[in-house]
Amino acid sequence: MCDCCKVSNVKKESNLCPKCSAEGLFVPFKTVENLIIDELKKELQKELKYFICTNPTCDIVYFNTENAYTKKNIKVPVWFKDGSLDVPICYCSNVTRREIIREVAVNKTSKTVEDIKKNTGAMKNPNCLLNNPLGKCCHKAIEDEIKKALEYTGDLI
Ligand SMILES: [Zn+2]
Repeated sequence: MCDCCKVSNVKKESNLCPKCSAEGLFVPFKTVENLIIDELKKELQKELKYFICTNPTCDIVYFNTENAYTKKNIKVPVWFKDGSLDVPICYCSNVTRREIIREVAVNKTSKTVEDIKKNTGAMKNPNCLLNNPLGKCCHKAIEDEIKKALEYTGDLI
């Protein structure tokens, strides 16, 4: 990469998590507004860009240059920051990690995202912009959970 291209990294500083410096992904304002706890809603600023910290071990969820909000400030657990079984993977239909593991590893009734959709009702009435912490479709997250579930060696749940 030439030096002139490296300069673009400077611009990215504003999307680095203030706590862990991991890169943040842009999240639509409507998503942040819907998922942040009611007490904090009034301090959100529509003209600012909000990002989500992508580091699984960091407890910051949404942030920007002005503010940072931790897991406790968000109404739902964020699946990639919370390893527990009752975390939703599909937020719109409330299909949890436990259900995916059950389908894939215990009952062995699902192998693909299509199977999960059919067998759990995931992605049935999508309203991802409001429900998913990224403001995006959970398809990729379901795919990742299936991969992990295929290697699941924990107790049968
Ligand atoms: Zn972070």
